[in-house]
This record gives sequence, C-alpha cells and structure tokens, in this order.
Amino acid sequence: MNNSIWKIQKKGYDQLTKNLKVQVVVVGGGIAGFLTAHELSNRGFEGVLLEANQILEGVTEKTTAFIAGLQGILYQKLNKTYGLSLAKKYFKLHENAIYEYEKLVQEHNIICEFTKLPAYLFTRKSSKSLIKEFDTLKKIGTGVNYLTKLQNVPIKINGVIKLENQAMFHPLKFLMGLPINFTIYEHSQVVHFNLKQKVLYTNLAKVEAEHIVFATHFPLFTCPNLFPFKMYQSKSYCLAVSNTQNLEGLYIEDTSDGLTLRNYKHHIIIGGGDHNTCEIKKVSPYKNLKKEADKLFNKSPVHYEWETQDCMTMDELPYIDRLNKTYPNVFIITGFNKWGMAKALMGSKIIADLMQNKQNEFYELCAINRKAAIKNPVKTLGHALNSVWNLFVSFCGVPIENYKNLKNNEGGIFLVKGKKRGVYRDETGKFYFVNARCSHLKCELNFDPHNKTFVCPCHGSLYDIEGNVLREPAIKPISVNKN
Ligand SMILES: Cc1cc2nc3c(=O)[nH]c(=O)nc-3n(C[C@H](O)[C@H](O)[C@H](O)COP(=O)(O)OP(=O)(O)OC[C@H]3O[C@@H](n4cnc5c(N)ncnc54)[C@H](O)[C@@H]3O)c2cc1C
Repeated sequence: MNNSIWKIQKKGYDQLTKNLKVQVVVVGGGIAGFLTAHELSNRGFEGVLLEANQILEGVTEKTTAFIAGLQGILYQKLNKTYGLSLAKKYFKLHENAIYEYEKLVQEHNIICEFTKLPAYLFTRKSSKSLIKEFDTLKKIGTGVNYLTKLQNVPIKINGVIKLENQAMFHPLKFLMGLPINFTIYEHSQVVHFNLKQKVLYTNLAKVEAEHIVFATHFPLFTCPNLFPFKMYQSKSYCLAVSNTQNLEGLYIEDTSDGLTLRNYKHHIIIGGGDHNTCEIKKVSPYKNLKKEADKLFNKSPVHYEWETQDCMTMDELPYIDRLNKTYPNVFIITGFNKWGMAKALMGSKIIADLMQNKQNEFYELCAINRKAAIKNPVKTLGHALNSVWNLFVSFCGVPIENYKNLKNNEGGIFLVKGKKRGVYRDETGKFYFVNARCSHLKCELNFDPHNKTFVCPCHGSLYDIEGNVLREPAIKPISVNKN
C-alpha cells in the first residue's frame, strides 16, 4: 500500500504536444516547481511548468508537512562546518518561511489547516548531543527551552528541546490554492535537453526558453557540478492511525532514523524508519513503525501508509543556484534533506532573485560551489565507495542462481541467456525481464520485495517490474523484449 493521507482530487492538465518558445520553463511539478512558478509569475515572468506524470504526486504528496526549524542534531554540525553565523542564517530561513507561509495562506484565503504550534526535538538515547544542540541553539538566539518530559506523548525520553511558533499544514491543499499563472503540462516528461541552447525535449514537443529551472527532485544530469557524487537518496515511511488525541505539537526524534509525530484532523501521523536507498530491508520498515504506533497509541487502526525518498547532500544544506557561468540561465533547486517545506518556499525566492540579478540573504546557504563534499569527507567517501562498488558488481559480478527457481512474487538479478537481467515472477507465475543496470549511471539494480520494484543503490532511481521509470534521476526505461 502506498496511500498518502494528503492525496486529494485534482484537476488534470493537458500533455504538451506542440513546440513552444517561452520566457521560463520550470521542470517538475512538486512543491519546489510549484512555488518557483508561483514566485516567478508574481514577479511578472511568463512560462510553463512541465511535469512527467501528474502534478504533486511525487515526494511532496508523501511528506509529513512540518514547517519547523528544529531538524535533528543539525545546528552543531553547521556551526562546526561553517560557523555560527551560517547556522543562525539557516534558522532564520525557517522563521521567515513560517511567516511567508502564513502570509500566503491569509492573502489567498487557502483552507489548508495551517496551524502554529510548538516543535519538540527529543532523545531516547543519551542526552549529551541534545544538550550540545540546545547550547548551539541558545547561542544562535532562538528562544528554545530544555525539558525533561513530554506532556502529550507517552514516550519515555531523556531530554527534549522545545521551540514555539512552528507550523504544520496540508501541503496539497495549500499548493492547489495558490495562484500560478504559468501554463501547466502533465504527462510531459523531459527526456532530453541541450543546456547550452536552452532547449528541452519531451517525447512529443520541444521547448525553447530564456530561463530553465530544474525542480525535478534529484538532478537529471551529471555535468556540470557532478551532483551524483554529491547527493544520494534516503527513504522514509509514514503511517496515519485513527486517533483523536491532540498531541499539541510537532515531534522529532534526534536520530536520523528516529520517529516524527503530528496530528492531522482525526489522525496521528507517525514517520520514521529512514535508510539509504542502497539498503533493502529484510523486514518491511512498516512493521517496526506499526509496533511503535501500537505501543504509543493503543493499537489505533492504521488508515494510511506511505513511503518515499528524498535527496540528501553531504552537509545537509540544499543546492539552489544557477548551474554555473557557462549556463547562467539554467537553475536548480534540490537537496532538501527531508526538510523541503521551508527550503522550497525560500528557494523559490532565491531562484527569482538570481534571475533578476538581486541579492538574497540566504543564497550562501544554498550555493553550489560551497565545497560541501570536501568539508564532509567521510560521508562523501562512503557515498563514492558505494557507487564504485555497485558499478563493479554491475560489470564484474555474475549471478549464479537460476531465475527459474524464483517463487511467485519474488524477483532479483539473474543471468538470462547470457545477459544480466532483473527478473520478477508474478503471482500467476509469469516472468518479467528488465535490464539489470540503471539507465542513469549503470549501477546494478536491487529488487525491492516489499514494493516489487527495481531500485538503484547509487542514486535511488526506481523502476516498475516492466522497467518503466517511477522516480528520477533515471529518465530512460530499462525494458527489454519479454522472453
Ligand atoms: C517521508 C518524508 C517526510 C517528509 N517530511 C517533511 C516535513 O515534515 N517537513 C519538511 O519540510 N520536509 C519534509 N520532507 C521533505 C519534503 O517533503 C521534500 O523535500 C519535498 O517534498 C521535495 O519536493 P520536490 O518538489 O523537490 O520533489 P517532488 O515532489 O518529487 O517533485 C519533483 C517532480 O519532478 C517531476 N519530474 C522528475 N523528473 C522529471 C522529468 N524528467 N520531466 C518532468 N518532470 C519530472 C516528478 O515527477 C515530480 O513530480 C519529507 C520527506 C519525506 C521523504
């Protein structure tokens, strides 16, 4: 089941079928693309937004939609890597985003359950690093409090930081309520582009633009900027249980795979189980999440469960910038590290300011040339080794098992008539064959038994059992003729 609580009925948009010349083209119809199109149309730009599938059905539909400045043990890392003034700026970006969201909700009368409430960052482990985080937040001047108990959630904790005036909302109701003057095209995947000439191609048409903004979540290209070496993807899982208990806050555990909790109407949303997309978990992460939910909320029934993956950078800051001097009119907005609500909104303003050659106080947080990889050598090396290993396996590894031994509903990578193939056997015994290598950078794929998909362990591209692309950065399918 991948059934998000945020799913709503939306109107459909046409597919692009004729060539266009436009001022701006935004590629990607998630929160980043939507808010960028909104900001640019407000500033008088005209253009189009191209979405590969249907708008707002990517990661944005599967978020938990906290708008919060507390984000795990982050500020002490930012302080160590870049200094206190940058950590302070990161906090300010979130404060400004909450203010801007509230303003937009009021200005356009958007009914999206936007609510201000405190956020709590808690630990169930030793409180040492939480106390350090608290000290850093104090130095930044954030008005946080340190507590030893949670009032409204029955979790036994060893410490908690409280920050007032954070926010939550229904992300899709908000975005659908926002006026956007750009023409939106759905089912219009960008399959090829020439950045120098500023031309994009879908399967049916060509778009020439003065400015291009890539808001496709993971960048579609390797050069310039070598994004695949600086970024990876991480998965997360969510449940919504039917329960009317008011938690009166947003709850964030301090570990990278820890819990998050919030209310939405008569439900409590529980997130967690995060892991790098290079890992395939033997036991479905929903099982552990369900165990936690049962313990905390007396076996309340699960009404929704959903999962998705987000782009991670080595220093946990985003990339929102123009590509470089060679491509001054091509922009990118990505790398939200599971905290995309504030970054997408403030990032849309950064992109618009760059386009208009204006200064933006948050630009330095998001600049591509900030040496994030060099300043985080262990993480960068780990990611590089993972990619190299998966390339090595792809070209040198030889599967030894026979695919015909697969049971129904199983899959994997096998040698089929001398070629490596991804193979899946469905519930009726029928076999499906796909290319075993990702069409992005040729890493060997893994089979995910929980979702019946093929996953790239290097950058998280996702394919269905017929080889169709479900998630970027891959653009091309990996289908082969059925045997
Ligand atoms: C489980 C989970 C919980 C989260 N919770 C929070 C939270 O509480 N608060 C918070 O701030 N952040 C949160 N985040 C992060 C946030 O949800 C994401 O960072 C954000 O939604 C990403 O938005 P996006 O627009 O970049 O990506 P998407 O929403 O995925 O949009 C990208 C779009 O680009 C399209 N596309 C891709 N390739 C092409 C192509 N070739 N041509 C045309 N279109 C293309 C895709 O189809 C997609 O629609 C969470 C993330 C996860 C995984």
